[in-house]
Amino acid sequence: MNFDFDKTDIAIREKINELFGPDSKAAIENLENGSLTEIREATLNQSKTLAETGYMALGLGDGKNAVSLTATQENLAAVSPSLFLSLEVSARVFGRLLALYGSPDQQEKILLPLKKGLLIGALALSEGGMNIENDPLDTTGVSSDDGFRVSGSKDHVVNGPIADWIAVAGRVGEKNAFFLIKKDSEGMSIGQRLATLGYNGVTLTSVTLENCHVPSAFIIGPFEEEDPIKRVRSWEDQALTAASLGQIKRSFDTALDYAKNHKSGGKPIIAYQEVGFKLAEMLTLLQTAQLLAYRAAWMEETDDREASVLAHCAKVFCTESAEKVASHALQILGGQGYLTGNPAEEGYREAKYLQIAGTSSEISRMKIADELLRI
Ligand SMILES: Cc1cc2nc3c(=O)[nH]c(=O)nc-3n(C[C@H](O)[C@H](O)[C@H](O)COP(=O)(O)OP(=O)(O)OC[C@H]3O[C@@H](n4cnc5c(N)ncnc54)[C@H](O)[C@@H]3O)c2cc1C
Repeated sequence: MNFDFDKTDIAIREKINELFGPDSKAAIENLENGSLTEIREATLNQSKTLAETGYMALGLGDGKNAVSLTATQENLAAVSPSLFLSLEVSARVFGRLLALYGSPDQQEKILLPLKKGLLIGALALSEGGMNIENDPLDTTGVSSDDGFRVSGSKDHVVNGPIADWIAVAGRVGEKNAFFLIKKDSEGMSIGQRLATLGYNGVTLTSVTLENCHVPSAFIIGPFEEEDPIKRVRSWEDQALTAASLGQIKRSFDTALDYAKNHKSGGKPIIAYQEVGFKLAEMLTLLQTAQLLAYRAAWMEETDDREASVLAHCAKVFCTESAEKVASHALQILGGQGYLTGNPAEEGYREAKYLQIAGTSSEISRMKIADELLRI
């Protein structure tokens, strides 16, 4: 493994740190209880600012989960987890779908403003009870007028209530396709905002489609040979892996700072071996998680045949380490850690999402074992 970060990558990271320094909590984090209009406005403001650094367009060229992309995502994930998740779904999942598979017209109308931070995208793929491996999607598009009538429902859609466009995965006959549906389209209903354990600055809803008309100009697919759903899942998984790296860093930095400054029995608590050992384990997990995530990205960049298995290993290890590190951090912060609103307790709650969403820990382990049989 041999990689260097070029000047552009480093400049974007420095700019992100400057924009979201330790004292300036991103506006979206303060809007957890804000109205949907306020959250949408704050998300767009932040995405416009980040677009100026080049962040919004990262990884849209070849769709590869590169090392430099992972390292840059990690920076934003560490300073603003909710904003990170919302923008990754918009740019790195919805945006990449358009960049790689969209028509020139779709790219001009939707992708271009998205790259400038002027609109928000969402992806509605998962369906309740769908076996991630084999089940056909229940959402279906039936040919009609100059396009399709789409019906189906999706339980969980990040950005659902604030998105300008939602890419809804469904079937046309036996083949998969994505229907690009504009907000307020007739036949598409967005459910109430769902309350979640963590990522409270992220908006989540169900989406239901009843004979929703989608003109043929706004369909991606149906796919004859290559099915991009696997690719979309790999983008989701990579963003969740990078989110974990940010979470681990956030929890570790918070605990280290506290352990150096908080005194018990007249000494900073870092002087006590029990606390020091926890910090040692946290740093080891941080470094190992970073190395594994970067290695998985490096293998993808170099088209290594084991890239896919390494990506699953990275998702499992990084998301599970995020929970362990947050738990240690919370313990080190003691009573302060148990109060809501600090990075340790937030990370503890948010780590569960990282293990469930995209390819869950259980399914990832199954995929690793399957690949071992194949290799
Ligand atoms: C906060 C949140 C945001 C989300 N955002 C989006 C979004 O924007 N777009 C989108 O498309 N989806 C989204 N999802 C859906 C998410 O991707 C799914 O929740 C996830 O894929 C798990 O699917 P499920 O909930 O149907 O669980 P199930 O598939 O029903 O699984 C339940 C449990 O059983 C385990 N399990 C299932 N099958 C097997 C098996 N064969 N072997 C072993 N264990 C198994 C799973 O690992 C899990 O632990 C979101 C979910 C959440 C919670």
